[in-house]
Amino acid sequence: MTTAQSPLEPGPRPTAPHDRARPLAPGSVKPARELCSDCGLCDSRWVAYVRQACAFLHQDFEGLEVGAHGRSRDLDNDDELYFGVHQRMLTARLQAPIEGSQWTGIVSRIGVRALETGLVDAVLCVGQSPDDRFTPVPLLARTPEQVLAARVNKPTLSPNLEVLEQLPGSGIRRLLAIGVGCQIQALRAVQSTLPLDKLYVLGLPCVDNVSRAGLQTFLESASRSPATVVHYEFMQDFRIHFRHSDGHEETLPFFALDTPTLKDVFAPSCLSCFDYTNAGADLVVGYMGASFGRQWITVRNALGQELLDLVEAELETGPVISRGDRRAAVQQGIEAYDKALKLPLWLAQVVGWIVQRFGPQGLEYGRFSIDSHFTRNALWVRRHHPAMEGRHIPAFARRIISRYRLPAS
Ligand code: FAD
Ligand code: SF4
Repeated sequence: MTTAQSPLEPGPRPTAPHDRARPLAPGSVKPARELCSDCGLCDSRWVAYVRQACAFLHQDFEGLEVGAHGRSRDLDNDDELYFGVHQRMLTARLQAPIEGSQWTGIVSRIGVRALETGLVDAVLCVGQSPDDRFTPVPLLARTPEQVLAARVNKPTLSPNLEVLEQLPGSGIRRLLAIGVGCQIQALRAVQSTLPLDKLYVLGLPCVDNVSRAGLQTFLESASRSPATVVHYEFMQDFRIHFRHSDGHEETLPFFALDTPTLKDVFAPSCLSCFDYTNAGADLVVGYMGASFGRQWITVRNALGQELLDLVEAELETGPVISRGDRRAAVQQGIEAYDKALKLPLWLAQVVGWIVQRFGPQGLEYGRFSIDSHFTRNALWVRRHHPAMEGRHIPAFARRIISRYRLPAS
């Protein structure tokens, strides 16, 4: 016999779209097709929201910023136009850097402290495959040791959001998610449907990411010993620094890169991305707005400050600086890149030497990098996906791009 339910008793929870969805089968074509950055959302039941959540199918920076920070960026404030909504920007380094981290390890230290203090139950971070140091393995770290083991960039597309699939039944109610812009855009879009009481987002700026195969092409074209590279970074001295397994460092000026080979190496997702500075994160930790050797921190909202509070006493901090004028260099770079010019090494060394001494520094270096990538990407979208140009390029990027002359499509 069934009994009628009293109107006062809670009924069964109505099912949500993700309750009925299944991750896409491995190997399936993803909804964003060529533009997919493999953010991992489609490898979880939250694929149910892909049409609104995918950074390459639906961009809504204003909604993203209002949802995360309570307001969108002020387009008439040049710092917000470039670096997004923020309360504070500073430069810093850990007084006791973490050996083997990408820079000084501020990101890993925040993850460790968030677990040690009980602020969160788990940290979404990216470990490495036991077979290959550059193959990413996203995980929900429950211990400081797991967070530390996930330090250092895996400079390849990483399916971070696949681990959302592990949340139901895990006991994790408070999460710190570390990730790059496309991952964070999708995460924010599904945040209200996740089985969480609290979410903190620690973002990394990101540009020019590659597939694992693309990384190999890059290393082979840029390093004298690609097989022994364990770490690399494009640094503020306009050189790429490669660290090798025996500890020695190799550097190459940006201007010596083999542009004709590398033009096709970057993932199409990254050639159509305008979220370089990770607009939706609470706190962003990168390097490009800081002087050489230091990290650059952008606090976007109160949750971001709460994350920074976990480590601020362990940091040697300083103000952001801005020196030089990037604009002529950006304009020349647009034309050189479009013609796929490759300079002989001696000339690249000379140009690198001059730019390092007299070129943009601090936030102006950050603007140099943003301008160069946004103009290149706008041209790429116009040439490869003209139908999406109008809806895909956000207002802040349009304003930046309009300051330059782009080659004809
Ligand atoms: P660590 O303490 O070493 O921690 C690194 C963290 O990165 C780990 O928590 C790990 O979970 C996470 N991680 C590793 N690989 C990935 C991945 N593929 N996707 C998502 N998360 C990952 N900063 C800039 O200022 N300008 C840039 O152009 C820029 N490009 C970047 C491109 C990529 C692909 C990545 C992953 C980062 C980039 N960064 C960039 C951020 C910068 O290189 C450092 O990661 C950041 O300053 C933190 O340094 P750290 O020493 O505190 O990090
Ligand atoms: Fe799915 Fe992410 Fe690829 Fe978009 S980028 S199609 S959300 S896996």
